[in-house]
Formats: sequence, C-alpha cells, structure tokens
Amino acid sequence: MKRYSVFAIAREALRYHQGWERAWASPEPKSSYDVVIVGAGGHGLATAYYLGKNFGITNVAVIEKGWLGGGNTGRNTTIIRSNYLQDPSAAIYEKARSLYETLSQDLNYNVMFSPRGLLMLAQTHHEVRGYLRTVHANTLQGVSTEWIEPAKVKELVPIINIDGPRYPVLGALYQARGGTARHDAVAWGYARACSAMGMHIIQKCEVTGVRSEGGNVTGVETTRGFIGAKKLGIVVAGHSGQVADMAGFRLPVEAVALQALVSEPIKPCMDVVVMANTVHGYMSQSDKGEMVIGGGTDGFNNFTQRGSFQHIEETLRALIETFPMISRLKMLRQWGGIVDMTGDRSPIISKTPLGNCFINCGWGTGGFKAIPGSGWAMAELMAKGQSPLAADFGLERFREGRFIDESVAAGVAH
Ligand SMILES: Cc1cc2nc3c(=O)[nH]c(=O)nc-3n(C[C@H](O)[C@H](O)[C@H](O)COP(=O)(O)OP(=O)(O)OC[C@H]3O[C@@H](n4cnc5c(N)ncnc54)[C@H](O)[C@@H]3O)c2cc1C
Repeated sequence: MKRYSVFAIAREALRYHQGWERAWASPEPKSSYDVVIVGAGGHGLATAYYLGKNFGITNVAVIEKGWLGGGNTGRNTTIIRSNYLQDPSAAIYEKARSLYETLSQDLNYNVMFSPRGLLMLAQTHHEVRGYLRTVHANTLQGVSTEWIEPAKVKELVPIINIDGPRYPVLGALYQARGGTARHDAVAWGYARACSAMGMHIIQKCEVTGVRSEGGNVTGVETTRGFIGAKKLGIVVAGHSGQVADMAGFRLPVEAVALQALVSEPIKPCMDVVVMANTVHGYMSQSDKGEMVIGGGTDGFNNFTQRGSFQHIEETLRALIETFPMISRLKMLRQWGGIVDMTGDRSPIISKTPLGNCFINCGWGTGGFKAIPGSGWAMAELMAKGQSPLAADFGLERFREGRFIDESVAAGVAH
C-alpha cells in the first residue's frame, strides 16, 4: 500500500492523479480463512484491523452483504463521547475516544476527528442530578468531563435560547474532547489498512447460514458459496438476531429504525455538538455547513432503512424552543438505519453457545463512537479467548441479572 502524504499528493498532481491505486482490493473469496467476520461496518472492520495489528492474525475475511460502511456506520450522526456512567462503559468508550485522537495517523487516512466539544443539556432538575452524578463518576474513572452553568452554555453556543418557557437550560454535562469524525472515512480507513495487511474484504456477499460440527463453527454459507472459518465473528448490528438464529442461539436484542436529517448548508454558527435529551433531539454543524439533526428511535420494531415525515416534524418541534433559528431552515434530506437495542442499553461483546463463534452487537443508537475500542476488545476476545475491556459485556449478564444500566447515557442519546 502506498502511503498517503503531502509528497504523494504533489506527485499525483503532476501526473493528473492517474497513479493512485485502489484503496482496497476486491478479491474472490478463498475456500477458508482463520477468521471470518460477518459485517463490514465499522465494528467488523475494526475487529479485523486489530486482529492483524495487535495479534498478527491476517488470514481474515470480512464478508458484507451490501457495501462496506453501508449499514449504520455510514448513516449515523458521528457523535463521539465517553461520558457514560458505569465503569465498564466508561472504560471501553474512553479507550475508543482516545484511539480516535490518533486514528488518522494510525491508519494513514484522514478520518477528520474533530474534538470540538460536546454538551448534554440539562433541561429538568432530574437531568441536573443525573449529569452531576455522571461528572462525579467520570472523575473517578479518569474521564475528563465537567458540569457547566447556563451562562457558559450560552458562551459556547451563542445560537441557543437558554430561557425556554417549557425547558429552560439549567446547565450541561460538558466533554471538551468529545466531538465528531467523518463516518465513511472511518470505515474506508480501516478497510484500506485491512486490505494492506492481506485481508479479504468481500462485498455483495450475504451470509445465509452458519455451519457447525461437534458444537464448533466450521464456516458460513453465503450467496457466493461456502466459506470455511476456524473462528467466526458476527458483527451485523440490526441484523444480529437473524445471523444468531442461523448459528443456533437467541439474543436479547431488538431491532428498530433510528432516523436523522440534515438542513440546507448555512454559514458556520455552532462549533460544538449539542444534545437535548429531554426533548429528544441533538444537533451539530457539518463541515459543509448543514445542521446535522437526530432524534429518537421508532417506537416499534422494524427493518426500514429510510426516513419518515413524522420524525422530521417531531424532532424539529422538540428542538425549536432551544434553537429558534432552525424554524427558518429548509431540511435537505433524511434517512434511517437499523439499530440493535439491548434492555440495559449496553453492548454485547461475547463468546456464544456455539464454539469459536463470537458476537459483537447491541450498540444501539450510540456505537459509532465505540468503533476503535470495540474492535480492539473483540479482536482480543477472538484471539485470546478473553479481553479485560469486554469482560463485563458477555451474554451471560442477562441470565445472571448483572445489567450495565446506561439508560441515562444511551437510552436516548447517541
Ligand atoms: C440515524 C443514526 C444516527 C446515529 N448516530 C450516532 C452517533 O451520533 N454516535 C454514535 O456513536 N452512534 C450513532 N449511531 C449508531 C451507530 O451508527 C451504530 O451503533 C454503529 O454504526 C454500528 O456499527 P456496526 O459496524 O456494528 O454496524 P453496521 O455499520 O450496521 O454494519 C453491519 C453490517 O453488517 C452487514 N450485514 C448484515 N447482515 C448480514 C449478512 N447476513 N451477511 C453479510 N453482511 C451482513 C450490513 O449490511 C452492515 O453493513 C447512529 C445510528 C443511526 C442509524
């Protein structure tokens, strides 16, 4: 793989950009691999990358039924933060956030990580208490967050109305190194790095069955034939239930659509990310100038990867009191993704009842931020059979009642 650098750009400029090689190869599948990962979203690709980088395991295929990054990874609103409440969550989300800090250099691919600062508004007294508790927990966990008063909120977000009649802004949970990254670039950067290590990324290839023998996985049936695997990682977000069913076990996960929308581009007016969880809405401004706006999930299980009119209305109605300026904005487009929700709003990174078969899912509405940390932990679990970062996120917690309750940090927020 040729490295991207300022010299490479200058060289290619001189030869009319004819010499760039493809970012990743599109090989024919081999008959078998040491590791097969199902799902080329951020989590699947990051798992493959850290298997190679941290453990030297490179005989790996990542199998994707559509195109890489075409699932939730390419559909989310890119919020990155680690201000969770429980210790296991803070550990994995902060690991991910800290890996994001240098991800562009690690991958030699600009993922446009922008730690511009993130505010979670407190608009009820209940939220004030909840976020103060989170700040104290984060202090103990070594995660840098702080409580800020309404005047500071106004200073950071001049377009905000802090005196709303229904939901005045009473303060905010602030994470100065939270922010955003370019979602496609995260998938593309990992894919390019995996391909450079000799791994196979096989797109337009759907897994339709899982084969096993003597309680251990032996491979997957796909639309391009059988592919053998010594180890299998299932990393398919909203489709986890279906693929787990193929492998013969059930998951405590439900699939729902989550939607987002963007406005027409406008001049820079907000250089932080603001989440208003009481009213169910959040907003940031993209580099193109669009206001990126997200709301809540559909209230019923479904697999529709598209937007619906009532969500535009509901989300904008929720935000308009706090951001009156959006009443004058035209909305440009909307979309949806299928997210995988667990009951305690925490992910699953786990061994499964099928030998040598592992699962990574349940990131729900907030897994983009976790991609590097999740891939790191999943790779360790698959390579060594255990991972300190993943230890508390096993499937058995649902049977044993050891929930990792993140309903405040992740029930609504992304
Ligand atoms: C509108 C929206 C906004 C969001 N906002 C945020 C946010 O601001 N911050 C944040 O942290 N998170 C956010 N999220 C959540 C985040 O996008 C997801 O948690 C994360 O992208 C999940 O990544 P993944 O790799 O697990 O799944 P995906 O990216 O969905 O990848 C799974 C892949 O598996 C493939 N697949 C499925 N079944 C099969 C099969 N049988 N065979 C082969 N391949 C298969 C799919 O095609 C898909 O490409 C948001 C999500 C949505 C939808």
